[in-house]
Amino acid sequence: MRQLLFLLLGFLSGIAVSVAAVSADELPTVSTPSAFSTSNDGGQVFTDDNSPQAMRAAKRHLYLPTKTPTPTEGVRWPTRNVKIYMDTNDHALQVAFRGAVRAWNKTGAVHLKWVRNEDQADIIARDGSLSNNDSTPVGYSTAQLGSTSTQYNPDTHSLIQARSTLDATHLDYTSRQFRTEVAEHELGHALGLAHAPEYMHSVMIPRNVKTGITKLDRRTIRQLYNVTE
Ligand SMILES: [Zn+2]
Repeated sequence: MRQLLFLLLGFLSGIAVSVAAVSADELPTVSTPSAFSTSNDGGQVFTDDNSPQAMRAAKRHLYLPTKTPTPTEGVRWPTRNVKIYMDTNDHALQVAFRGAVRAWNKTGAVHLKWVRNEDQADIIARDGSLSNNDSTPVGYSTAQLGSTSTQYNPDTHSLIQARSTLDATHLDYTSRQFRTEVAEHELGHALGLAHAPEYMHSVMIPRNVKTGITKLDRRTIRQLYNVTE
């Protein structure tokens, strides 16, 4: 067994909202920086990770489909049974994460199961402040609504850990449905999905989360996890 696993820490995702552009009666206009540009540390991480999750990821080389309806990150969990831990006390965010878990489970591709022990979890569902003070060229501040970071083994294409974060401060001003859709987007990253092009009908488009999980998303996640139609 190799002691030194070569891991990449990729900060996927970024749903950003331009705060100043929000009017009271409409959903925020969401925009995102390009992939990996929001990374706190997008570089390569060398870690001596002996966790069961890392060991499991090192064991098996995964078959991944080359062509899917929407893009993937080229990684997935080595099992369809994925454990998730709720690391937030914010009720609205708990509702959003639970709804997102139910929606992904409905695709039949994966079975996300809530666990009480954080150490056993593959995915951590958490809250956190994603605000930043970056100014855009037009001069208003942006704040992220959600973000997901993943750790994976690049040799086996196997995910080791994912953390999906929702920002309560900014999501407080949105609807329950919108919060659930943002949670679905973030958990989509946590399951190995990448951003879809803007023109696609997908929960994974980087700007303006306009929809929940679509038929396209369902087909992609099922292909990624080798579930035949
Ligand atoms: Zn994203």
